[in-house]
Amino acid sequence: MQKLKILHMYPNMLDLYGDSGNMELISYRLKKRGYSSEITKYTIGDGAKTDFSSFDLIYLGGGADFEQQLLADDLLSCKDKIKKAYNEGVFMLMICGGYQLMGQYYKDSNDKKIPGLGLFDYYTVASTNKRERCIGNIVIEADIDGEKYKVIGFENHGGMTDNVKTPFGKVLFGNGNKFGSDTEGYTEKNVIATYLHGPLLSKNPKLADHIIEYCLSRGQGSPVKLPPINDELEEKCREVMFGRLLTDDKKK
Ligand code: GLN
Repeated sequence: MQKLKILHMYPNMLDLYGDSGNMELISYRLKKRGYSSEITKYTIGDGAKTDFSSFDLIYLGGGADFEQQLLADDLLSCKDKIKKAYNEGVFMLMICGGYQLMGQYYKDSNDKKIPGLGLFDYYTVASTNKRERCIGNIVIEADIDGEKYKVIGFENHGGMTDNVKTPFGKVLFGNGNKFGSDTEGYTEKNVIATYLHGPLLSKNPKLADHIIEYCLSRGQGSPVKLPPINDELEEKCREVMFGRLLTDDKKK
């Protein structure tokens, strides 16, 4: 039986608004289809012993400026190994604070510049007025396996991200990469970086399956297609939220 290997980075520091739930969701949806998963928790100092390329999925949740500052040096010390894993096609899912740290830099609300891994061209700057934050529900439209899919979540960030060449989605409600932005997050074939907490994957089952299918298919002769499972409740919740947020007077 195929086992999906997940590296969950800094779960003790980057875990806002249930972000760890994303990995529980992946494990749950795998189990429902007869697959298993193994989640390795990475904490500061584990860099030397970690073979990032041996994982199917690398995950970073969101975190406050303080935690981002604390772990930045450790993350930088893993730069080459993470870059290698990314180049080899390991899937990378990053939420909010994790998203910001993979770019060029994050200038936080204390005006401190935290260097990013520089995997991608974008950079993020927060206002020094700590009250200026994008907070609230958000709905974006993303392209998942060639189909338009509404992704719903909750955003709370002071950082405004610029120079995003390939955004994850188009904002239908909420802010996105910066105040009033049309675009949200960043994506590539094996990368999804987004401001959406929620946890993201519990609210967006199709997105969860897209990531799982990518990971299971990588290195296989033919693509793996997961059988459907009962997402009736999730779909009902989604409809309620879309009904609330995407009314003509609120929609962009
Ligand atoms: N500290 C970052 C910011 O405020 C990230 C916050 C988060 O992960 N929700 O922009």
